[in-house]
Amino acid sequence: MRHLTPNPLPVLGMIKGIKGVKDILPEETPRWRLIEETARQWAVRYGFQELRVPIFEVTTLFARSIGASTDIVEKEMYTFQDRDGTSLTLRPEGTAGTVRAFIEHNRAADPLPQKYFYMGPMFRHERPQAGRLRQFHQFGIESLGTSDPRADVEVIALLWRILSDLNLPALTLEINNLGYTADRESYRPLLVAYLTRDMERLCGNCQRRVETNPLRVLDCKVPECRAATEAAPRLADSLSEKARGYFAAVVAGLDSIGIPYRLNHRLVRGLDYYCLTTFEVTSTSLGAQNAVGAGGRYDGLIETLGGPPTPAVGFALGLERMVMMLSETAPVSLPGSTTVYIAGFGSQGSATGLSALEELRLAGIRSVSDFRAGTLKSHLRQADRSGSRFTLIIGDDEVAKGTGILRDMTTKAQRDVSLTSLSRDISSLLRAS
Ligand code: ATP
Ligand code: MG
Repeated sequence: MRHLTPNPLPVLGMIKGIKGVKDILPEETPRWRLIEETARQWAVRYGFQELRVPIFEVTTLFARSIGASTDIVEKEMYTFQDRDGTSLTLRPEGTAGTVRAFIEHNRAADPLPQKYFYMGPMFRHERPQAGRLRQFHQFGIESLGTSDPRADVEVIALLWRILSDLNLPALTLEINNLGYTADRESYRPLLVAYLTRDMERLCGNCQRRVETNPLRVLDCKVPECRAATEAAPRLADSLSEKARGYFAAVVAGLDSIGIPYRLNHRLVRGLDYYCLTTFEVTSTSLGAQNAVGAGGRYDGLIETLGGPPTPAVGFALGLERMVMMLSETAPVSLPGSTTVYIAGFGSQGSATGLSALEELRLAGIRSVSDFRAGTLKSHLRQADRSGSRFTLIIGDDEVAKGTGILRDMTTKAQRDVSLTSLSRDISSLLRAS
C-alpha cells in the first residue's frame, strides 16, 4: 500500500521577470557604475546639474511632447489607468519630464541658461532583442535657454567625450541640419510629391508616414525604402540662409575643438519643435541596434508644453548598448575582495566576533563573517572562499586572553592583536602593507 504523506503547501510555478526587463547582476554592476560615473563626471565638468524626475507622468505629457505620429506614442507606451481613472504612462524618455519640471517649478524665471542631466530607467513596449529592451536606461542632458551654435557644440562635445573616455569601439557621430519649421514646410511638399510617385516601393510603415510624418521616411532602415529615397529631393536644398549659417557655425565649432563628425542628410526627426542641429552616434560593433545615443535642438517644445519660449538642445544615451560595448573592449574588474574575515566561534568568541566585525566596519575596513560556521576549520574554509587578505581568529581562549590571532591568508603568518585596540592595530597594519 502506498504511504500517503501530507502535502501542506501546494507547489507553485516559479515566477519569472517580465520579457524584455532585465536584472543587472552583481557581476555586471561595476561596468554600469563605470559608465554612470563617467557620464556624471563629464556632465558636471560641462556645467550640468542633476535633475531627478518621476518614472511616471500623466499620459498627455508624453503624447503632446513626443508627438502622436511617432513609434513611441503610437505603439510603445506603457499606459494604465490610475484608480481615479487618470491615464498615466511610464516614461519612455527623459525630455518630457525634464521640461515639465522646468515649467512647473517656474525655473524660467531664474537666470538662464539652465543645464540639466538625468539618468534612469525608461519604458517602451518594443520587441525585445539584443540592445532593445522594454525597461532600459538612459543618461540624458538638456541645455535650456541658449540659441547659440556654441550650445549645440557644447552638447555634442559632451556626448563625444563621455563615449571616448570609455573607449567605446567604432563610433561615428553623424549630424544634419533640419532647418527651421518654415524650411521644412517648403521642403515637405517636394518630398511628398516625390514619394507618392511610387508608393509601392515603400514599406507599409512608410506608406503611412508619407501622410503623417514624411520626413521619417528618409530615416527608415528598410533597404527598399533607403533605395527608394536615394534620389529624393534633399532638405539641404530647401534651407534658408539663416539655417545654413547656424549650422555652418556648429560645424566650425566642432572642427575647432576636434570633434570628428560626418554629415548625414538622412538623419531626421519628425516633429515640428525639432529644428536645426540633429545628431546621432552609432557603432558598427553593435549589430542591428547600432544607435548609442541621439539628440538635437528642440526650440519649440517648451512652448508646446505651456512654458515660455525657450530654446533648447539635448541628447540621450542608451546605457545598455554602452554596457554591451564596454564588455567587448575592457573587462571591468570587480571591486577587490574583502580585507578581513572574522572567525568568531565558541560562546564568547561568537559574541566578541560580532562586535569586532562592527568595530572594523566602523573604521572603514571591509570585513565579513559567515555566521553559519561553528568551528575554526569551517571558518577558515569560508575565509579562503571570501578571498580575504586576513582572517581574525577569536575563540573563547582568545577572548579570555584579550588577544585575537590575525592570520595573513597568503603567507599564513600569524600574529597576536589586542582585542581592545583592534581597529587601530589593523588599520596601521593595512597602511604599512
Ligand atoms: P532606435 O532607433 O534604436 O529605436 P530611438 O530613436 O528610439 O532608437 P532615442 O529615443 O533617440 O532612440 O533614445 C536614445 C538612445 O536610447 C538610443 O540611441 C538607444 O541607445 C537607447 N534606446 C532607445 N530605445 C531603447 C530600447 N528599447 N532598449 C535599449 N536602448 C534603447
Ligand atoms: Mg526606437
